[in-house]
Amino acid sequence: MNRRDAIKGLGLGSAGMMAAMMKPNEAMSQSYADATRGLAPLKITKVRAITTSPQSPRLVVVKVETSEPGLYGLGCATYNQRPLSVVTAIEEYLDPFARGRDVDNIEDLWQNAYTSSYWRNGPVLNNALCGLDMALWDIKGKRANMPVYQLLGGKCRFAADCYAHSSGRDFQQLEDSVKSKIEQGFRHVRIQLGGYGSGHLSKGESFKEAGFGLAGDSRMDSRPYLKATPKMFEHIRATCGDEVELLHDVHERIEPIEAVGLLKELEQYRPFFIEDPLAPESNDFFPILRRQTSVPIAMGELFNSPHEWVGLITQRLIDFIRVHISQTGGFSVARKIATLAEFFDVRSAWHGPGDVSPVGHAANAHLDLAIRNFGIQESVNFNEAMLEVFPGAPTIKKGFMYVNEAPGFGVDIDEEKAKKYPFPEHPGYWSPVRRRDGTAVRP
Ligand code: MG
Repeated sequence: MNRRDAIKGLGLGSAGMMAAMMKPNEAMSQSYADATRGLAPLKITKVRAITTSPQSPRLVVVKVETSEPGLYGLGCATYNQRPLSVVTAIEEYLDPFARGRDVDNIEDLWQNAYTSSYWRNGPVLNNALCGLDMALWDIKGKRANMPVYQLLGGKCRFAADCYAHSSGRDFQQLEDSVKSKIEQGFRHVRIQLGGYGSGHLSKGESFKEAGFGLAGDSRMDSRPYLKATPKMFEHIRATCGDEVELLHDVHERIEPIEAVGLLKELEQYRPFFIEDPLAPESNDFFPILRRQTSVPIAMGELFNSPHEWVGLITQRLIDFIRVHISQTGGFSVARKIATLAEFFDVRSAWHGPGDVSPVGHAANAHLDLAIRNFGIQESVNFNEAMLEVFPGAPTIKKGFMYVNEAPGFGVDIDEEKAKKYPFPEHPGYWSPVRRRDGTAVRP
């Protein structure tokens, strides 16, 4: 067998063929893999964290620099409530771990970085790990000269259908908001009466008068919320029609048995999904909930570990998996979750609020485009400052999210402009929510 025939059998692209055929002496002097893959070997030279806050949430973006001058990748490691812990995990631990390692072997790097802390699956380390992993996918796309969704097999749809957020302290405010979202082109709207749990409906004396907790702690009783929520659906169906798809986030603020009653009551209004009806600590309650109601269930915003999502998916206990991608530990992890979920008829609804960087939103949207079992995408509004810091951020038109078609995730960061927006003074933690007697409410 001559050299040309031997190389033909390797299934190389034209670049690999050229590298292998045109410079046989040089190729022979490199390793077999380097000579045949058609891409020059590249090493990670630095992993660092960039912090910025152009729109109030505390964003952490990982930049992975490589041995090719000017080639870098960006990943989202945003954990708004503990951002500085993530920065430490990136700069003190992941950077020295990753330096000198091969840029191309994303899965190998993920597996070894994942176990490099020995203890794993926690939110801080998962965010740091996701920043590295996502940045490597960005680099992979840039090296292939393709958007990342192309690396996953290409588009299953032209753009990602989104839902908008509507809320109002009373039915009229909420109705006006839903109608404006419909006018903007959204077919899916999430409706909330006030903040999560409609705490403004809880009235009368409480822990505050008794001097329990701090003055800034808020209150949420179950009963006013449980009474108002079906009425809210009734009002919006009556005034906004049957065409619009309605979503609602319980935000795990009620007892599991109360969630069963609420979802049964909401069935008649045909919700698109009800989100986080139970806290992650109550995962074992899902079989009971599932047997009682046909309301579609979205779950998983707070999940960090496969132990939390695998059972719910494989036992078909939920309809939408709703993880926050950086909390799962990576774009690679989310891609695997989507693949697992496809076989169990569970659709995606990646968490996409303001406390995800535009890099993270782009990653959400690239997955949305490429997976068959896409469900819906939470939409976001970027302000001018955000667009100034993150050129190439995804855009929303008539209720659909579009990615920038540049290679990789298509989003860049202007580091000088990012410095103009330091973190706010408040460290970002969630403040206590309490029942009338002061009992802590999750979350
Ligand atoms: Mg939520």
